[in-house]
Amino acid sequence: MSETLLSVRDLQAWYGESHILHGMAFEVGKGEVVTLLGRNGAGKTTTMRSIMGLVRQRQGSVTFDGRETIALQANQVARLGLAFCPEERGIFSSLDVTENLTLPPVIRGGGMSLDEVYELFPILRERGGSQGTKLSGGEQQMLAIARILRTGATMLLLDEPTEGLAPVIVEQIGQVIRTLRDRGFTILLVEQNFRFAAGVADRHYVVEHGEVIDMIPRADVQASRDKLKAYLGV
Ligand code: ATP
Repeated sequence: MSETLLSVRDLQAWYGESHILHGMAFEVGKGEVVTLLGRNGAGKTTTMRSIMGLVRQRQGSVTFDGRETIALQANQVARLGLAFCPEERGIFSSLDVTENLTLPPVIRGGGMSLDEVYELFPILRERGGSQGTKLSGGEQQMLAIARILRTGATMLLLDEPTEGLAPVIVEQIGQVIRTLRDRGFTILLVEQNFRFAAGVADRHYVVEHGEVIDMIPRADVQASRDKLKAYLGV
C-alpha cells in the first residue's frame, strides 16, 4: 500500500440507542481505490457517514492525511478534502446541469473547472440546460461525482455509485473511477455489485455487523471467490 491517507481505528457509531459500528478499522493509501463490501445493513453507509462527521454519536479515531478528525464537524471534514457522494446522489433536481455544477461552493481551491469536468463527462456538457429530474440515472450519478470534483476534494467516498444503472452505464462509471485514480484521486467505494468492484478496486474490506472481518487484495480475488460468495450471500 502507498502512504496512508485515511486511517480508521476502533470506530464506533450509534443511531440513538442502536449501536451500529463496533470497532471498524481499515486504511486507504494515497491514490488507492478501496471498497467496503458486505450485506445490507452491515454498516457500510454508516461508516462513510461517520468518517464525514454526519453521524454525531461516534467514537474512535479517523485520521485523514495525518490529522485526527473524529471531533470535527462535517463542514470542517469537507474542508480537509474529503467528499461524500450519497446513494441518493444529492443533486438539485430543480436546477439544470450547469446550475448544479456552478452552485457548490469551492470548498478548498484546486477544484476542477467547468471545462475540466465537461472533458471528463462530455454528456454533461450536452445536457447542460436539462433539469436534474430529466436526467437518466447514469447522468445523475455522473453529475453527482462532477459536483464533488468541483469542490477541490482529493478523496471521494462514493456510496453505491452503480445502484440501479444499466450495465453499459456501469462500465462508464468504472472508466470514470479508473480515470480519477490515474489523476491521483483516492477513492473509497461502497458496492453491492462485486463484479464492478473487482474491476476497479485495489483492495476490498469485508464488513459484517459493524466491523471489518477480512481484507482481500486484488491479486487474491480469484482465489477468494467462494469465501466472498459466503460473505456476501450471493
Ligand atoms: P445498505 O447497503 O443496506 O445501505 P449498509 O451496510 O450501508 O447497508 P447501513 O446503512 O450503514 O448499512 O445500516 C446499518 C444499520 O444501521 C442497519 O441496521 C440500519 O437499519 C441502521 N440505520 C441506518 N441508518 C439509520 C438511521 N438513520 N437511524 C437508525 N438506524 C439506522
